[in-house]
Amino acid sequence: MRRAIYPGSFDPVTNGHLDVIERARKLFDEVIVAVAHNDEKQPLFSLKERLSLLRETAGKIDDVRIADFNGLLVEFAKAEKAGAVIRGLRAVSDFEFEFQMALMNRKLDALVETIFLMPKEEYTYLSSRIVKEIARLGGDVSGFVPACVANALSRRFK
Ligand code: ADP
Repeated sequence: MRRAIYPGSFDPVTNGHLDVIERARKLFDEVIVAVAHNDEKQPLFSLKERLSLLRETAGKIDDVRIADFNGLLVEFAKAEKAGAVIRGLRAVSDFEFEFQMALMNRKLDALVETIFLMPKEEYTYLSSRIVKEIARLGGDVSGFVPACVANALSRRFK
């Protein structure tokens, strides 16, 4: 069983995340989308809301499981018997942080491999942060996120 973990904040899930999940699914038997508790960040959506939006979207894809985790990613990967961590790379600007994280995770556990996937070009400029900003300013985000996320955003910024 080849299992991978796709960790992140998913605040909220976007079409870019879903594209990465679909790609990862082609490489692994099971993909666990793992929402980090991450108390340092001030999310727009609570952990429960982020999980629920993921369950309504990514959770509908075969062999994709939605989970949450606290603490070290490598420990969670070990507990789930996952040999790989998936991360998305959009632009050079993502690289430095991702490179540091990948090598640090390798130091912490040499058995967990980080794999970077590039989304479809049209999603390379997409981030949860920019989607929240557009929604906050009253813009239409329906082309960037699934319908349930667009609805949740418009309710939040009503
Ligand atoms: P984090 O807080 O860990 O950066 P995110 O939810 O913002 O969490 O992102 C999780 C992962 O998905 C990261 O590897 C990020 O680079 C990637 N990602 C986010 N948006 C996109 C996108 N539009 N295309 C490809 N990868 C993306």
